[in-house]
Amino acid sequence: MLKRAAYYTFGCKLNYAETSAIENYFLHAGINTVKTGENPDVVIINACSVTKGADRRCHNLIHYIKKKYPNTFLVVTGCYAQLYSENSVEIDKIDLLVGLKEKMNLLKYVLKKKKGVIVSSIGKTKFTYAYSYGNRTRSFLKIQDGCDYTCSYCIIPSLRGESRNGKISDIVKSVKKLFEKGVKEIVLTGVNIGDFGKSTGENFLNLLEKLDEVDSIGRFRISSIEPNLLSDEIIEFVASSDHFVPHFHIPLQSGSDTVLQLMRRKYDTELIKSKIKKIKFLMSDAFIGLDIIVGMRGENNECFNESQFFLENLPFSQLHVFPYSERISSKALSINQEVSSIEKNERCKKMIVLSEKKYKDFYFSQIGTKHTVLFENISNGDKMYGFTENYIKVETIYNKKAVNQLFNITLGGWNNEMTALTLNF
Ligand code: SF4
Repeated sequence: MLKRAAYYTFGCKLNYAETSAIENYFLHAGINTVKTGENPDVVIINACSVTKGADRRCHNLIHYIKKKYPNTFLVVTGCYAQLYSENSVEIDKIDLLVGLKEKMNLLKYVLKKKKGVIVSSIGKTKFTYAYSYGNRTRSFLKIQDGCDYTCSYCIIPSLRGESRNGKISDIVKSVKKLFEKGVKEIVLTGVNIGDFGKSTGENFLNLLEKLDEVDSIGRFRISSIEPNLLSDEIIEFVASSDHFVPHFHIPLQSGSDTVLQLMRRKYDTELIKSKIKKIKFLMSDAFIGLDIIVGMRGENNECFNESQFFLENLPFSQLHVFPYSERISSKALSINQEVSSIEKNERCKKMIVLSEKKYKDFYFSQIGTKHTVLFENISNGDKMYGFTENYIKVETIYNKKAVNQLFNITLGGWNNEMTALTLNF
């Protein structure tokens, strides 16, 4: 009899939303989530496979689980399962491996303790709804899945299938339910959310406008949006909205046009410059996070220096730096010129140094300014933390009553560790 389950999630916000939905199905079936110190009867690993590092983390966890809980029923799902299927090097330790098409039907197989591999090609798959409802403050809401783009370094489209999305009317219902449950911030997530509307004949701006009409004190954060899909209308909409926060996460990937072409991205650095200029013109306090891949095949020293120079002159707040990772069957493998891992590490270090400077400069520019902070149930000793609408981390004295509450505040100086700003009373 399966009484208790444990869940492990790797990868994107979409995966966290899907794990939370799966956990809800299990809870409704009477399978509780383990508490600290309890042994799980079943373990669900929702694994990512965007890089070799992600695969390694999944392998290590499978070893750890099998060693710690030898009798547990181990289930692996997610992009890792879809990519490797029965070829997973850990297949002998996995009781049930389930691909993306059957991912949200896990419960029925687990209840039967069905063993084996259930992976089929993703093909045309219907959209499945999901949202996370873990820490009660912020929820990841899945609005879109799959991708029709062909970026040369990426295999996600072959794993998650064609771009598809939920209906605006259903998403509005989920949003109302989450706000009624006390959630104060909803993060719209997917694989390529700017492409929202493909399978329902709607579009992303339509969705934002409808969500903005929902009567609530809550706020919305757009998780990540492709530069070419971040239209001027969307930027203007966010600038005039009371609910959508001035925080943009943009997967730029490189500041070199040569490398962007090798990556088969759908924009150039001119477009990036114009988008960021418009954001900063309409929302000078906006937080702009950029994803950057270093060491892509074909990225010679000249291209890297070009990318670094471009970024040095761009008003962004933070970089998420990823070393290029070879993916089975990706188109990038046909590009001859490889970058050594030593060189990749060097380039990562340079980009991280640049990011830290931009991050500190952005935080300094916010000291003394007025914002709205949402305190979370995160504490460290007598301290608690929250984020402003423009994604500034704020630290203050722990107060239980302040958890999951929105406050209008003035930002003070850095905390001792220079990891957050304090409140200016
Ligand atoms: S937009 Fe490009 S990088 Fe992103 S999921 Fe689609 S193919 Fe991959």
